[in-house]
Formats: sequence, C-alpha cells, structure tokens
Amino acid sequence: MTLKIKHNANPLNKKVCDRAHRILLALPKKTPARAWPDFGYYSFLLQRHKEAAPASDAQRFQTWLPSAATSELTVLFVDDSVSQFSLLSLMGKCAKGLTRKHEEVVLDTHALHPALAQRVALALIAALAARLESLPDFRRQPKTPPQTVALACHSVQAPDYKRTLAEAAGNGLARYLTTLPGNQLSPKLYVKRIRELARTEGWQLEFLDRATLTKKKAGAFLAVAQGNDNDGSGIAHLRYTPARARQAGTVALVGKGICFDTGGMNLKSAKYMHGMHEDMAGSAVALGTLLALSRLRVKFPVHCWLAITENHIGAGAYKQNDVVTALNGTTIEIVHTDAEGRMVLADTLTLAAKTKPALLIDYATLTGSCVAALGTTYSGVFGNRIPLLEKAMRAGQASGERVWAFPHDLDFDEDLESTIADIKQCTLEGGPDHILAARFLDRFVPAEIPWLHVDLSAGNHKGGLAHITSDITGFGVYFTCNLLLDQDARD
Ligand SMILES: [Zn+2]
Repeated sequence: MTLKIKHNANPLNKKVCDRAHRILLALPKKTPARAWPDFGYYSFLLQRHKEAAPASDAQRFQTWLPSAATSELTVLFVDDSVSQFSLLSLMGKCAKGLTRKHEEVVLDTHALHPALAQRVALALIAALAARLESLPDFRRQPKTPPQTVALACHSVQAPDYKRTLAEAAGNGLARYLTTLPGNQLSPKLYVKRIRELARTEGWQLEFLDRATLTKKKAGAFLAVAQGNDNDGSGIAHLRYTPARARQAGTVALVGKGICFDTGGMNLKSAKYMHGMHEDMAGSAVALGTLLALSRLRVKFPVHCWLAITENHIGAGAYKQNDVVTALNGTTIEIVHTDAEGRMVLADTLTLAAKTKPALLIDYATLTGSCVAALGTTYSGVFGNRIPLLEKAMRAGQASGERVWAFPHDLDFDEDLESTIADIKQCTLEGGPDHILAARFLDRFVPAEIPWLHVDLSAGNHKGGLAHITSDITGFGVYFTCNLLLDQDARD
C-alpha cells in the first residue's frame, strides 16, 4: 500500500484533468460558479452546476468530466470556519470512493490562502492514507483497498505531510490490532507482536509477566488475570528514548488491553459480548500513539504501559465481594467482575506513576455509561487538572478526534465507599459509572502527576468516523499527537 505525493506549483490544466481519475478543486466558500477557474472544462462545469442546482450552503459539488479518463470532479467549498472534523469527514467521503487498484488523484488549492490550502491538503492526505490501510479480512475474497494512490497537489506551497503520515500509521496500527479477533490476538500473540514492533521500531521492552507481578503484589491486575488458564497475561512497558532527552519531560501512555472480555463471573449476554475482542482498543491506541511519536523522532521520551490479559470465567476467576489489594496497597471490594478495565488499569497506573512522568494519559474502552452520555462520535476525558482538560478539549477540536470533559469532584467518591475495603470497585446502582470509574482510577495516580483519562466511547462508530471509513476508528492517536505537539500539554 503506497501513497505517492507530488507537489506541482502550477494550477490545474486540461492535460492533468484528462489523465487523473479523481480531481478535487478546493474553492473558498460561496465562490459563485462564474468565478470558478477555467481549466479546460469551464462551460461544461457551469452547465452541470446549473442543472444540479446544489444548495447554496453545500460543501461540495460532484460531477464527471467528459475527459479521456472520465474523471470524477469534486468541487469543495471551504473557509477558515470549517471544523477539522467536518473537513476530515469531507475528505473521507472522497477517499471512500477510491476502489481502483491504482488511483490517480489531483488536488488544486490555488484559490485558498496558504494556511487553509495546507489544512485541506493534509486532511486529504490523512484520508487517503487511512483508505490505503489494509485491515484484517479473512474472507477468501477479501475487500482489498487500493494498492497505490498517486496524489498530485497543485498548490502554491508544498504540503508538509510528514506528521500526517506518522499519525496515519499510528491510527492504522491501532485499527489493525483492534480488528483482529480474540483467537488471533490472545495475550500471548499480542505480546509476540509487541516484541516484533519493539525490535523494528527500536523501542526498549520490558514485559512484567504474572510471576513478576505476583512478586510485586499487583493484586488488582492479577484479580482479573487469574481467571485465564491460557496464560500470557502481563504488563508490557515500552520506551522510546530520543538522543539527549531530558527525562523530566517524559510522557507515559497507559492502555487497557483486555484481549477478550466475557464479563467474567458476571458473564455478559451474547449481545453484549459480541465485539469484545475490541476491549484492547485502549492499548492499541497507546501503541499507535507511541509509533507516531517515535517515527516523528519527538524530543521527549515516551513510555507506554499496556495491561494485557483476558477477562474470563473459570474456577480461579475473581468474584463479587472478593477483596483484593492493589500494588499501591489500596484494598478494593469487588462489586462487578465486568468492571475489569479499572482493575488492570489501577496497577498499571501505579507502575507508570512511579517513573514520575510529566504527563500521564490512559486510554480504555471503559464504560457503557460514557457511550450513553456522549454517543460514539466523541470520547470522554477526565483528569486531575482543569487546564489540562481544557487543552484536551482544544486538541479534540483541532485534531478532529473530539473529546468532552466530565466532572471529577471529590464528592463523587461517596458512591465508592466500602464497609470492608478502602474503596468499592464500582456500584450496582447505575448512575454515572464513567465518572465513578475515573474517580476510582484517581486513587492510583498521585496528585502531583498531571493525569488525563480517556474513555474511548468513539472507539467504534458504525460506518466510520471523520476520515476513517472502518467501524473501528483507532480514536485517540490524532488527538494525543495534537495534545502533545500543539497544545503544550506537558507543561
Ligand atoms: Zn468488562
């Protein structure tokens, strides 16, 4: 799968149009048809536009040119007010139509000012790169995406797309891993893949297996892992260290990696167990973000902590009313075995916090109540610093992976008071479980460490989200890169 990008400083002309399969012409919003540029099909276009009579606020106008290649022409109308989500969605629609093995795409942005032209080009590149990503498909005749896309960018300035491609690779990795079914990504197979990735990407890897975690007394993680006969569970610690890095600015990414979630003793019904191989999405997003950041050779160290196990039933599985002691000494009263994500994250957060990162971010497909609150087009954010939450909301808008902040006040803890342990794992009373889960996790993050918790309600959205055309969105990679690289979230 290759995306070849070329820059051409000349505006679109007839020769180019006659060759390309798809042409995108970006114009400022509300440009009347009579002011459109003439690149050889002016009167034809004018006629088609008149016949189609699109709404005055339409974002695009599409037609086919009577050219040798019967090129599909899309006129895009944009201005600075276009949100990143909307722009990416627009480009996603264009990319979705690419089905030829080898596609030739042309974009012209000469009519836009340079900053907007750059945004449009990068959004298209992000959409094309996502479209080229080959996801696991076990059909005898898999639906393969195009193999190559040659993109010619006709613009004043060449697009600076290095970061876009790194982010797309991270998102692609996250989606690939999350798509793999449970029998193809058991904890053992997952760790094997992580080892291979660490070798090829030059990351250091330490794997804390069950024996090591038993010695460390990571009782919260082990409570979940003990239900599995098929071992391989553990916490993977990956490190990217740039040359001459200051350890002080380290970012730690923590991910929930439940390779399959049956719900445990509080077994899920078929409807709710379906798709539970995706319960490792948080770890895949952390890994994808590490991939993007390390390929960009960022100047700060990035640590990645992945809590990898399954949540199973079995004679050894943890039960309601069990009391377990977490790595940091907190005793937890088990209330519902399907609330396993917060259990494995508790000890993983403790381990990550011990290294004193400048910023700690965790990702998890954690609660149904976050989906109930936000739907599946936004993810929820929580944290122990309001300015950090504000930066997160800005990063969400700017990256197109939108997040919304929830309250994190102390008084929510009343619902987690236990008569037998330091804290209850959750409640059975319903209520704001996404907030309670974040309050629970807060017990494992020392107050001096800036911490952001991302509940990935947008990890799966039917029909895809923004420029991502698969249901599994890989949500979080673009968001985090923006947070770290554009919002100074480490300060
Ligand atoms: Zn669960």
